Amino acid sequence: MKILAIGRNYVAHIQELQNEIPDEPVIFLKPDTALLRNNEPFYMPSFSQDIHHEVELVLRVCKEGKFISPEFAHKYFDAIGLGIDFTARDIQNNAKAKGLPWETAKAFNGSAPISSNFIPVNEFSDLKNINFHLEVNNEIRQKGNTNLVLFDFNQIIYHLSKYFTLKVGDLIFTGTPAGVASVKIGDVLKGFIEQKEMFEFEVK
Ligand code: ZN
Repeated sequence: MKILAIGRNYVAHIQELQNEIPDEPVIFLKPDTALLRNNEPFYMPSFSQDIHHEVELVLRVCKEGKFISPEFAHKYFDAIGLGIDFTARDIQNNAKAKGLPWETAKAFNGSAPISSNFIPVNEFSDLKNINFHLEVNNEIRQKGNTNLVLFDFNQIIYHLSKYFTLKVGDLIFTGTPAGVASVKIGDVLKGFIEQKEMFEFEVK
């Protein structure tokens, strides 16, 4: 399986940016060695001094396909979970400045904790109005709603499947809302979709 992810999708001031909607989302991948499941702790890596949390809704792919048009995209995912796209911001900033790729900032071991539970799509009344949030040490750090995106789930599937064949079991990180910040050893991260707790794990 593979993990596909998209870059900036939620914007804090979407109305101001409506005229600047890019044609395509930023796309990157993580290997399966990035996954952490079952509330396993995240161990701070030695190579970064600035690991940021990015809470994101995660789609589970249920059907193989490529060149999927937005109108059929809903057939290709069947459940939604919650994950963290851990990002070594210092390494990423350095890479961006030099025009280099992001892998070591985004795809390192343990950089993709995900909820063990995924909620079936048919349990959501409206995919364009899903609330989710992240608490760090019981304080709300990030809050998102899928009505704040530039690219909705169907558009994400459309763009990704132009480049990468989607396969059953692939996971898609769909972008993070505002409020990303550093984590430190001892932090407890708790993620919610609506009021349902999806994960709770410690930074060690
Ligand atoms: Zn992200």
